[in-house]
Amino acid sequence: MSGSLGNGAGPGRAGEWADRTRGMLAGFPVEAAGRAAALIVACYERGGKVLACGNGGSAMEAQHLVAELVGKFERDRAPLPALALHQNPAALTAVANDYGYDEAFAHQVDALGEPGDVLVAISTSGGSENAIRAVLAAKEKGLSTVGYLGGKERGGRLGELVDVPVVLGAHDTATVQVGHLVLTHTICGLVEEALFPNKAVFLDRDGTLIVNRHYGSDPDGIELLYGVVEGLLELRAAGYKLILVSNQSGVARGYFDEGAVARMHDRLQRMLDRHGAALDGLEYCPHHPEGDTSPYAVECACRKPAPGMLRRAARKHGVDLSASWMVGDIEADVEAGRRAGAHTILVGPETAQPPPDHKAEDFAAAVRHILGVPGDVPGSTERAASFRS
Ligand SMILES: [Zn+2]
Repeated sequence: MSGSLGNGAGPGRAGEWADRTRGMLAGFPVEAAGRAAALIVACYERGGKVLACGNGGSAMEAQHLVAELVGKFERDRAPLPALALHQNPAALTAVANDYGYDEAFAHQVDALGEPGDVLVAISTSGGSENAIRAVLAAKEKGLSTVGYLGGKERGGRLGELVDVPVVLGAHDTATVQVGHLVLTHTICGLVEEALFPNKAVFLDRDGTLIVNRHYGSDPDGIELLYGVVEGLLELRAAGYKLILVSNQSGVARGYFDEGAVARMHDRLQRMLDRHGAALDGLEYCPHHPEGDTSPYAVECACRKPAPGMLRRAARKHGVDLSASWMVGDIEADVEAGRRAGAHTILVGPETAQPPPDHKAEDFAAAVRHILGVPGDVPGSTERAASFRS
């Protein structure tokens, strides 16, 4: 009696798709994938966005690419704008109903595309009419175009139309689709490495870098804490960007204005710069929901424990948050660092719930901990802990 795997459907047949995939991956178009990633990096550097389109499995691949860009791939970092053109069923069906399905993507490229954006057209055969028309609309509007392609025709018509054709060397749809998945991951990895190459130490101000004075705003009252200058120099030498992130709700409460914060930070920078330890960035939040000074008396996304200042700085300085650290002396610092995706160190006697990745007696001890851990390895905290035990 033959079972469901009988009649030639045994292990040999079952291994066929894996064999095809191996063959396709052996000829993976590395150089073209790199050029596609470079086009997308340049697009983001000029403030553009990525549009992606395809049908069926290729629609899912468009969505997959968009998910990795908007969310994250391997690094915690600022989100990157991207849209899949089938992801609004109302718009898709309206355009298809009124202008025909062949226009479904082109119409949206016309509506949403801006010069300098990138359109990624995904078609295993390279011949999907709606993807072809989308690419023509994109060229008309000044977008750059990438093709995820494959099939017998070496990318088909799309291969001739797009700026960067990436053609997977397989003749069947299933195997080309596997290649497209690898291509998405390759592009996302290269884009993240290019746009977010830096690691940073985010630093609370009062009680971490300088002596905490009640709503301190007097530049003459700044007193650097023990070991801060030496620690900052060591962190910089180890390749970390040094970025201050400070809650300054005294502005919202009317105790001082933003000019006073600027004078404080200017003095602090000059004191540090005397030793070559000036900070790479200074972010502060002037807000508080219970303040009384317009326009600062608002709830915001930047007041710690919210992660807004870290995210803003990560965008400005191209920071991979998962390779970075937040150092502060209170629970809100730990929480902000954790929510941003950074490792966290709590300095001094306070506690935090959930606890920080590490607790340090003072700034110097925090620096020793950071430098004892390979800063660019995700999950390095756990690994470092096991080194030491
Ligand atoms: Zn704020």
